[in-house]
Amino acid sequence: MGIEAALPTDIVLTTQLKRVVNWSRRSSLWPLPFATACCGIELMATASSRYDLARFGAEVMRFSPRQSDLLIVAGRVGIKMLPVLQRIYQQITEPKWVISMGACASTGGVFDTYACVQGVDQFIPVDVYIPGCPPRPEMLIEGVMAIQRIIDEDGIPPKGPDGKRVPLGIAVQPATAAKTTTVGLTVGTN
Ligand code: SF4
Repeated sequence: MGIEAALPTDIVLTTQLKRVVNWSRRSSLWPLPFATACCGIELMATASSRYDLARFGAEVMRFSPRQSDLLIVAGRVGIKMLPVLQRIYQQITEPKWVISMGACASTGGVFDTYACVQGVDQFIPVDVYIPGCPPRPEMLIEGVMAIQRIIDEDGIPPKGPDGKRVPLGIAVQPATAAKTTTVGLTVGTN
């Protein structure tokens, strides 16, 4: 990575073990994509060559909870699917983090119906919320970077006095402002 060339060979580097562990954790997040709908397409785009999630060390998608440490819920979750999501969350090895990607995962989105979960954070602890319908790949990358910053600073996620995981609850802010576009359209009266 060029570090050998930048540093003289006869020096000794010292650091804290905690920093090395946090650095290796944040540089090798293995996501489990729980992609149920259109947000999953943006998730795939994020991992593809144009956006290249590999730059952040998080491109190794795993479909086994035992090999993952980052759950990305992308899309609406039906009530019938919820037990599966909960089981997957429970089976992911500690320490683990959760991203709720898109309006549907975070709030149910436009699917305000009895069959859809109105926010997965009612059932599993969510660390990062990504707004949008769908969020662009840049937003998902922002979310991954937010998790990386937390790992860098604090290491493993905190637990409450009852021993339960405390969600970090970070909301990613939109990186771009919405632009209005004038459309030359007239609506007739007859
Ligand atoms: S937030 Fe929008 S893009 Fe994402 S799953 Fe829901 S409807 Fe689809």
